[in-house]
Amino acid sequence: MADAKAWPALLITSGDKLASAYEDLISALLDDFSPTAVQDLTELPLPPGGLWDPTYPAPPEPPPSPLRWRVFFSSADDRDRAERALRAAQPDLEYRAEAISDDDWAARSQRAFTAVTAGDFIVAPPWDIPTSPGNRTVVVIDPSRGFGTGHHASTRLCLRALSETDVTGAQVLDLGTGSGVLAMAATLKGAREVLAIDVDTDAIDSARQSAALNPRVPAIHWLIGDFRDRGWEALSGGPFDTVLANLTGGMLISSAARIRDLIKPEGVLICSGFDEQERPNVEAALGLNVRAAFTEETWVGLLLGGGRGL
Ligand code: SAH
Repeated sequence: MADAKAWPALLITSGDKLASAYEDLISALLDDFSPTAVQDLTELPLPPGGLWDPTYPAPPEPPPSPLRWRVFFSSADDRDRAERALRAAQPDLEYRAEAISDDDWAARSQRAFTAVTAGDFIVAPPWDIPTSPGNRTVVVIDPSRGFGTGHHASTRLCLRALSETDVTGAQVLDLGTGSGVLAMAATLKGAREVLAIDVDTDAIDSARQSAALNPRVPAIHWLIGDFRDRGWEALSGGPFDTVLANLTGGMLISSAARIRDLIKPEGVLICSGFDEQERPNVEAALGLNVRAAFTEETWVGLLLGGGRGL
């Protein structure tokens, strides 16, 4: 398709040098440019349940290998700025700007996607909806473009935290909704009103489409924009009882004050998108009581608040 949308991406490789020497630094540098997804192209042995199915044991530690990441950005401008910053900081890595077509992305994604269980929820693509989910709530997601299919640990950690949170009748805000998975999970758990915001127009489009696949999901208010901009929450009935924020450690830290302002004094925050190393800085920046922490490999999800901490 000549006019199919292409995603700005940056391929980062380390030749024959090991990934472990670069991963942390590259992740930290990338944070400043709000990458929308990082795809690790290193071939890993698949566990028996398929890609990242948490109901199966984790695959054994992969052998040390070179770095091979494809990082997606919301604009070619962000990608180019990130490339310049990375080249300056890490000149011994190789960088290639790419445009990944929607078709490639969708086709590749669809092959890999099966239903995933996290806490009280099962996130399922339309072709793998469980027939007997038991007590679990099924959230159907069409994994076309938005991040959040349940195949990333940070989404699962938020779903586990949400499983421990009473959102009955609550006003919920989902910051960086991506596929809309957390917003839908919150409405299915009984939230009264859910506002979901994302800076990526395509993510909101596909989230709307996924919402239509969930007959029990009542209206979610979808908003396109950067949550750091001021003003929209006043029109949207904020502050909120529960705020969901699966972003990055860098963004949680730099926007901590803004995020706190969006939460009612007795409200809670569920956040993820960072690892154990970043966790102390994220907790310190947010300054809210830690009510529960969830981990998967090195990823962390936190349930915070319910009365201000610091
Ligand atoms: N909530 C989903 C998606 C998380 S990915 C899940 O848990 O799986 C993070 C999302 O945040 C992306 O869709 C990205 O476009 C969006 N995002 C990043 N920075 C943002 C900002 N400043 N304002 C609004 N959305 C943002």
